[in-house]
Amino acid sequence: MKLPLPLLLLLSLAGLSLAQIVPRQSWCRQPLSPRLPRVAVPVRLIVIHHTASAPCYTPQQCQQALQQIRMGHLLRKFRDIGYNFLIGGDGRIYEGLGFGIRGEHAPHYNSQSIGVAFIGNYQRALPSPQMLQAARTLITIAVQRRQLQRNYALVGHCQTKATACPGRQLLDELRKWPRWQPKP
Ligand SMILES: [Zn+2]
Repeated sequence: MKLPLPLLLLLSLAGLSLAQIVPRQSWCRQPLSPRLPRVAVPVRLIVIHHTASAPCYTPQQCQQALQQIRMGHLLRKFRDIGYNFLIGGDGRIYEGLGFGIRGEHAPHYNSQSIGVAFIGNYQRALPSPQMLQAARTLITIAVQRRQLQRNYALVGHCQTKATACPGRQLLDELRKWPRWQPKP
């Protein structure tokens, strides 16, 4: 069977977007504990964070940043890294806890949400267009894989509690996204 070119292009794009999540084992030697609490999927909420730490620009820098973030969370007595996914300045989507695991990123909302953190501080600057695109791709993948409801709500962390996270500039950007909601 010969497929028309536009269809082939579409298929390869879809394949790319699936391949785009960098698996946890690429940056962390410690496998996830099988005892981590799970969430009922699809969840209804995406909560966006920034890590308020130094940005990373290469896969190597981002891997180090991820290890440091996880270490910081373990020191705060989290079970593991607190976020489900992280967006690197290299434009890649990094698996933290991944889908289906309850994060530790937004008290009262952890069991209903996927927590996504942009690595860096976005109070005064925006994430790069590649980072923003990576987050949108992740949301598409989450809906495609039935981990996120089709009519999901998207909020910034500061909409769930008093915090500067995910930074003023990033929040202003998120307000323009199709499923951003004023309340979680
Ligand atoms: Zn946050």
